[in-house]
Amino acid sequence: MSGQPNFFDEVNTTFDEAARFTEYPKGLLDQIRCCNSVYRFDFPLRRQDGTIEVIHAWRAEHSHHKMPVKGGIRYSPEVYEEEVMALAALMTYKCAIVDVPFGGAKGGIKIEPKHYTVEELERITRRYTHELVKKGFIGPGIDVPAPDYGTGEREMAWIADTYAALNPGQLDALACVTGKPITQGGVRGRREATGRGLFYALREACSRPADMARLGLATGLEGKRIVVQGLGNVGYHAAKFCREGGAIVTAIAEREGAIVNPKGLNEDEVFQHRKKTGSILDFPGASNVQPSEAALEIECDVLLPAALEGVFTLENAPRVKAKIILEGANGPTTPAADPIFREKGILVIPDIYANAGGVTVSYFEWVKNLSHVRFGRMSKRHEMANELAILRVIEAATGKTFTEAERMQIAKGPDEQDLVNSGLEETMISAYQELIEVKEQHPGVPDLRIAAFLAAINKVARSYAELGIFP
Ligand code: NAD
Repeated sequence: MSGQPNFFDEVNTTFDEAARFTEYPKGLLDQIRCCNSVYRFDFPLRRQDGTIEVIHAWRAEHSHHKMPVKGGIRYSPEVYEEEVMALAALMTYKCAIVDVPFGGAKGGIKIEPKHYTVEELERITRRYTHELVKKGFIGPGIDVPAPDYGTGEREMAWIADTYAALNPGQLDALACVTGKPITQGGVRGRREATGRGLFYALREACSRPADMARLGLATGLEGKRIVVQGLGNVGYHAAKFCREGGAIVTAIAEREGAIVNPKGLNEDEVFQHRKKTGSILDFPGASNVQPSEAALEIECDVLLPAALEGVFTLENAPRVKAKIILEGANGPTTPAADPIFREKGILVIPDIYANAGGVTVSYFEWVKNLSHVRFGRMSKRHEMANELAILRVIEAATGKTFTEAERMQIAKGPDEQDLVNSGLEETMISAYQELIEVKEQHPGVPDLRIAAFLAAINKVARSYAELGIFP
């Protein structure tokens, strides 16, 4: 699209930089980096006042080396084709990094959701789903959407219902989309998964004494000053878990401006204030900062972009004072800004790893839908009985009696939320360690982003090599 930076080219610039550390033939690398299928379509919406409006939409499937493909659906007036392709590509690499067995996809509808009634949004979502069904771009084993910028559980429930209506009797129909409400086949922990994953990523990064010493920071999350851009699903939950983990959220930026309080902000109080007043500004005890982008240049330990791509550019990157950038959004750092951050010694925890918590828990939701049983339902009481038996042996051997509270804390048996969190924590920790290993094995790799792309390329290339080429 003219006048817009081409996000897909930017992703491929990074891909090429990482591919230099491999010896795969050019043809194989070309196959990995290209976007396999792009479905662009327009459809009419009858608006509440009777007028007709044409809606522009996309679904891009970047890589089919693993099926189904997976990726969110974005509602934004800024959506354009190469953006959807870029986000689909990032999904491929992200899934590979956290060992989620999906190819990458992404969808977009070019609308400002605020300008439509709920009924109109429902009609748009259902018609979009219908178009995907018609062309074979959705299905539990084909392509599984999820929430992204501008969408959430409500839209995912409409998608699931539309798909089920068009595929009567399909037993696994609910697995056609993730991020659904719990009452519609969703999994506990999905709503906050991306934010929780970001917290695990940051906690892991901050637990490495040598890396923290290099940044002039103490080990651990305690007292780290965080600036958050975007108080939506990702920003809100990341801020919440980091604050609960001991960090201090010193500034929050939204579209209309930013607020700062060095003593700390509570994300939920700020969220409620914005809901009530329509603006983040004038929050009690905080000072206003305008324009909103100025918040990115505030001195802090951790900067957490959680809104949209292309936030850090050649122009503003030199003024960023953060020691760590934790990428909640997809693509917040342009390739022009990356070398500046390297030079400044900023530790960038890249999007394709850091925000992978959402797709990880989406994978758990898909598995739950296919198995048709809630995690923990079969084993919880069994594990509880075993743990209580062990406690009784300990009591008999030591003469100590556990209180009822201690007994229940130790022997409660995991429920769905515990298992989801445990799976997410394990995924984020092991993936971080893998990135560090890849970086250490390749001394020329300049940062974790290139290490992450390299890890992903290796995994996708291995898949293609094993699969061969049809026919
Ligand atoms: P969301 O729609 O819930 O929230 C985005 C927030 O950013 C909104 O509150 C919006 O007002 C704010 N915003 C928009 N422009 C802004 C600006 N210029 N300055 C400050 N704030 C601004 O979206 P989300 O689901 O939280 O997604 C945010 C980012 O995270 C996107 O890049 C998305 O692709 C990425 N992401 C989301 C998920 C997920 O599970 N939802 C997973 C991985 C990555």
